[in-house]
Amino acid sequence: MSSPENKISPPAAPAGEVVPPLRRPVATVWGVGEERAKLLARLDIFTVEDLLLHKPRRYEDRRKFLPIRDLKLKEAATVRGKIIAAGVKRFRKGARTMFECVFDDGTARLHCRWWQAQSWMPDWYAVGREFLIFGKLDDDKKPRAFTHPETELVEPGEDEFIHVNRIVPIHPLTDGLTARVMRTLVWRALEKYESEITEPAIKLDLKTVPARANAVRMIHFPNELTDVEFARQRLALDEFVALQFQIQSRRKKFEALSKALPCGGDNRLMKPFLAELGFKLTAAQTGVLREIRADLGGAHPMRRLLQGDVGSGKTAVAACSALMAIESGFNVALMAPTEILAEQHFRNFQKWFEPLGIKVELQTGNRKTVQADAPKVQRVPRGKPSTFNLRPSTLFIGTHALFTAGFDIPMLGLVIIDEQHKFGVSQRETLVRKGNYPHLLVMTATPIPRTLGLTLYGDLDVSVIDELPSGRGKIKTFVRTADTLPKVWDFIREKISGGRQVFVVYPRVEENADGFKAVTKEFEHLKKLLAPFQVGLLHGRLKGAEKEAVMAEFRANNNQVLLATSLIEVGVDVPNATVMLIENAEAFGLAQLHQLRGRIGRGAHESFCILISDAKTPDSIGRLKVLAETNDGFKIAEADLKLRGPGELLGQQQSGLPPLRFGDLAEDLNLIRQARELVRLHLDFAVRGVN
Ligand code: ADP
Ligand code: MG
Repeated sequence: MSSPENKISPPAAPAGEVVPPLRRPVATVWGVGEERAKLLARLDIFTVEDLLLHKPRRYEDRRKFLPIRDLKLKEAATVRGKIIAAGVKRFRKGARTMFECVFDDGTARLHCRWWQAQSWMPDWYAVGREFLIFGKLDDDKKPRAFTHPETELVEPGEDEFIHVNRIVPIHPLTDGLTARVMRTLVWRALEKYESEITEPAIKLDLKTVPARANAVRMIHFPNELTDVEFARQRLALDEFVALQFQIQSRRKKFEALSKALPCGGDNRLMKPFLAELGFKLTAAQTGVLREIRADLGGAHPMRRLLQGDVGSGKTAVAACSALMAIESGFNVALMAPTEILAEQHFRNFQKWFEPLGIKVELQTGNRKTVQADAPKVQRVPRGKPSTFNLRPSTLFIGTHALFTAGFDIPMLGLVIIDEQHKFGVSQRETLVRKGNYPHLLVMTATPIPRTLGLTLYGDLDVSVIDELPSGRGKIKTFVRTADTLPKVWDFIREKISGGRQVFVVYPRVEENADGFKAVTKEFEHLKKLLAPFQVGLLHGRLKGAEKEAVMAEFRANNNQVLLATSLIEVGVDVPNATVMLIENAEAFGLAQLHQLRGRIGRGAHESFCILISDAKTPDSIGRLKVLAETNDGFKIAEADLKLRGPGELLGQQQSGLPPLRFGDLAEDLNLIRQARELVRLHLDFAVRGVN
């Protein structure tokens, strides 16, 4: 538990400014002194409002108590009884002690036991006192007994209406603060401040949702248990509305400030490009391109998120979008999260664009010269990019680090960010320079659960490629234990003999205490095991040129097997590779495994993904089974979100989302949609109001 000293207090209001009542320090609540304020700070409660919004972790129905006689085995319940006997028991062996007291409620007796008696217990659990006891019977032995139950003293006075005869909240607590004290404080805060809880500026229909003040009371002191969810939804909606308001007003402000560069194009390059491409775009790709073309020719700079599962063909969409801007006389920048991916894009775009007379430039940290087969291409000198003499119609490809360092391309019409989830979300806007508003296309292959799409990317319009190109071999996924590895290697040898290639992924570069396998160690082993086939090794500690050489060998099928870390998770496109073996699969997130699996199934051959795991917990096995059952990235992302929570999935800090007390990003899609619509109407109205 963190100490109160670690917590940051909210800034005090500047002198002379009136503090709104709900923002007053929690110490203004009767019963909160210096000591309790410190305890509350541990729970992040600093103001009256924090206290009022301290969400109960569970509820107890204390309108009627179960007679002790009727307690059922293993069923948690609250009973109410008076102490008729109490004492400390000592055991011969060691210093083990137990405090035990006996409750009676007129129907039967209940023994309550605490191991290691504390010195305060005999006084507190004194004969004659009345308690509420929450616990369950662990066995059906007589006498009936609870071990380490939660108890609450019944005192005359306030008690009769706060702590009993109603459904009561049990709040998250901290050492030194009991449920009873917390409940009392919340009660008092409500009594004094409920009338200060007002409706927010964006009005909700109070015929369908409870008033906010009412919801706050109900979340603590519901009349019926069903009220709780009703109240939670109202409070969650308020949170989502506030969030959407932030997102949408930012976007509005942006649109008011910026004028779009005309980048719609005229098809002059697009036509020959599509003719040479070698495949026909899917209906989904074409549909998305229609949306993008409308944006590029529109009044406001495009801010669009393109979602498409791995292998859905986002690169071709990026290429067509780039062509539109280039046809219109602008330069385009394409950013990739890794050097390997930047190299790969570079090779593809060179092949596609140079025949059309478009220059393609690569900028990566390690790259000194370009591939021998592309001697025409030069690097852009770093350090003085603004003075570099460019003719229009250049596509710049690089990693994001380089672009932020010297991001000053003249006549920049369009910025494309590939695999956005690898960049911090907050970095997004800094990539697009202030005062200069190129169009922005963000592409991501981690299918973002819809709830997050609407919040995290709420300021972007969303296009979805919801169809994979036809003619793809199927991917079959298996979950296996490590003892089946000999058979797996036989299978892999057979596939290589048939002409295919294989990825093998390990969680670690080098071995460490966590016991997961490391790619450098396994490399030595597999070289021997798989001879005469050739094995390549790829991980993040190699230099850029080394990585590039390894990828080139694999692409040329000089290496049949590529051992790698999750570094190859994004983008790598080698259609002849049809087997992916992932060891210690439990070490990876679901979405990450899905990404990794996306490296195969890119050609016409049937593909196989084998997940090796000796994880014992049903949770981790269940996670891996989700992958075996579905190839649908959205389903996987949603399962991942539910299993790990949004913080884990994105990193709360990176996500830039404020913490939500009542809203649940895994569950509240409808509320988020509702909030989005409410805010949209409100802002539209506001704009029309001033015009
Ligand atoms: P991702 O969406 O994961 O970035 P890519 O753009 O790398 O996917 O495309 C995966 C593979 O599918 C590439 O080899 C690409 O050339 C191919 N591809 C893209 N669009 C089509 C299409 N319409 N028909 C056939 N193959 C396609
Ligand atoms: Mg891609």
